[in-house]
Amino acid sequence: MTLSKVNERISKHESEWGRDAGSVVLIAVSKVQPVEKIEKVLKAGHRDFGENRVQEALAKWPKLKGKYPKINLHLLGPLQTNKIDQALSVFDVIHSLDREKLAAKLASGIQKIGKDVEMFIQVNFENEIQKAGISVENLDDFVKICTKKYDLNISGLMCIPPINKDPEKFFLELKILAERNGLTKLSMGMSSDYAQAIRCGSTHVRVGTAIFGSREKI
Ligand SMILES: *Cc1c(COP(=O)(O)O)cnc(C)c1O
Repeated sequence: MTLSKVNERISKHESEWGRDAGSVVLIAVSKVQPVEKIEKVLKAGHRDFGENRVQEALAKWPKLKGKYPKINLHLLGPLQTNKIDQALSVFDVIHSLDREKLAAKLASGIQKIGKDVEMFIQVNFENEIQKAGISVENLDDFVKICTKKYDLNISGLMCIPPINKDPEKFFLELKILAERNGLTKLSMGMSSDYAQAIRCGSTHVRVGTAIFGSREKI
C-alpha cells in the first residue's frame, strides 16, 4: 500500500457511505519511520502527520516544518506534564488529552506561547491500563472541565479500541459520546480498520503501516 492507494480508498469509502468528499483527514503516522520515507510523502503533497513521542517529533519535525510549509503535526501518544512546553512547540493537534492536570498545564502553556492548539479527548473504553484515555463514565464532566474551566479548543474524541475485538462497536459508541457532548470530530481508525471507522463517522483516520510499510524495530 502507498499514500495514493490509501487516499483512493478513503475517497471510495466517503462516497460509498454518503460522506462528503474530503471530509476525512488522513493522518500519516510516521513514528519510527526514516526521514527519507517521510519526505517522499511530503513531496507527494501530503501535510498531516502523526507521531507518538515528543522527543522523536522534536528530532525530526522542526527541520521538516522549515522545509515544507503548512504541515499539521498530530500528537497521538500519551503526554506527560513535564513535556508540555516541548510538545506545544512542535505539535499542532493533540489527540491524547485525558486528565485534568494535563488540561490545566496545557491551558497555561498555550496562554504562554499564544498558539491555538486543537485537541481531542482520548477515551479508554475498557479502562485498559496500558493505554491512555479517560473512562466513559468520567467523560462528560471532563469535557466540561476542559471547555468551561480551562477554555481549551476541544474539537472531538479519539479512541484506540481494545485489540482482538470488533472495533465497530467502539467506533459507534465514540460517535454517540461525541454527539452528546456537542463535539463534531472523531479520531478513529488505523491501517487495519479505517474503512469501518469511516463508515461509523470518523473524521480523522490515523494510518501508519498501510502508507509507510512496517515499522523497523528500534
Ligand atoms: C501507531 C499508531 C497508529 C497507526 O497504526 P498503523 O497500524 O500502523 O496504521 C494509529 N494511532 C495510534 C495512536 C498509534 O499509536
